[in-house]
Order: sequence, then structure tokens, then C-alpha cells
Amino acid sequence: MCANAVHEIAPRSGVAFTLDRGDRLTVIDPRGEQVADLLAFNRHDLDEVISSGRTLDYASRIYLTTGDPLYSNRSNVLLRIVEDTVGRHDFLLTPCSSDTFRIIYGDADPHRGCFGNLAHALAPFGVAPDRIPVAFNCFMNVPVDGATGAFTVKPPLSRAGDRITFEAETDLLIGLTACSALQSNNGSFEPIHYRIEQAREGGRPGDDRGESSAGRNASASGA
Ligand SMILES: [Zn+2]
Repeated sequence: MCANAVHEIAPRSGVAFTLDRGDRLTVIDPRGEQVADLLAFNRHDLDEVISSGRTLDYASRIYLTTGDPLYSNRSNVLLRIVEDTVGRHDFLLTPCSSDTFRIIYGDADPHRGCFGNLAHALAPFGVAPDRIPVAFNCFMNVPVDGATGAFTVKPPLSRAGDRITFEAETDLLIGLTACSALQSNNGSFEPIHYRIEQAREGGRPGDDRGESSAGRNASASGA
């Protein structure tokens, strides 16, 4: 795998791959208005995982952008946002799932969603579905009424080519999707692109980042 190559996540699918400390991950919305759910685990101890609750608590804000750290459940910084051309992302809502589509959309034969795609992509690394927490939802636009707390899922503010870049502050396992929920993506499903800049020239010897993917068959449901 070439350093700095741009990889594509097909619509309604997901991938998992590793990052080394110091590597930079850029998530790109190539066509605009497409959400990407991001998970990060400590690669050396998968019980340590990205935490919405701790991150928002320490930030005292629900909208995160350049300079903000993403904390783990053990209050260590796993990732830091180092560039952001959009400035609106969500860290409140759970990955969309077959249950989301059944409960909110009333689908009789629901797609497995980001949750199912993440579970499938992370399984080869030893992550069971029950260990999947709230993801950092790149480009997801969830305005909140400050008085009542009511929120709505609006079209992303991202336009074609917009991006957000994270730096890994420890060795990580990453899960990343092109989101499968109609409401989050203004009614259509587009691909997501991502790029990895390795901190160390050439990366780890003999390593291909062990990428695994899920949901290439966009019509798949369940499983
Ligand atoms: Zn989703």
C-alpha cells in the first residue's frame, strides 16, 4: 500500500485499518453532504476506545473542530483534530444500524447500517459488536435547540472536497464508514475517501495495514 494514496469507501460500507502514533488520517467528502462514522481503539488494548462522554465533558462543547482532542474511556487522547474545512460534526448519536432503520424509518428489511459495517470490518481485529461505542460522525450536522435540548439531523455542511484531518496520539485501530442513513446524508448515499500520512518514512516493515472492509454489497441486510 502506497503512503498518501487516496482510498475509497463505497457507499453504505465501512473499513478498518491501523494507524501508528504520529500518523495523520484525512477523511474527505468527495461529492459533498456525506457523513463518515469514525471509531478509534487503542491497538494494544482494545478495551480502550474513543469516548463521546469524556470528550464532550472535557471540551464543554458538543461541536468539535481543529485543535480539539478525542479522548478514550480512560481519558487518554487517542486522536487530535489538526485540520477541518467544515467545522460541523456530531459526537452525540450512535452509528446507524438495522435497529435505527426499523425504529426511526420503519423499514421491514433494514440495512445493517454503519454499526453492522463497523462490526464486520472490526471483527477480524477481535472487536465484538457490543464494544462499539458512539462514533465521531465526521460531517454529520445535528443542530441542537439550546433551551429545550431538541435536536434535528440536517444535511451536512460539507461540500465536494471538504475534509477533516486527525493525528494519532497512540497506536490505533480505526473503523471508518460511508454512512448508510438517508436523513444524515440529505437523501443519497455517496462514497467517502481517506488518506493516511505516515509519521515514519515507509511505515512498518512488511505491514499492509491489515485493512478489512465490509458492506461492499450495498444491498446486504443484517448479518
Ligand atoms: Zn451511518
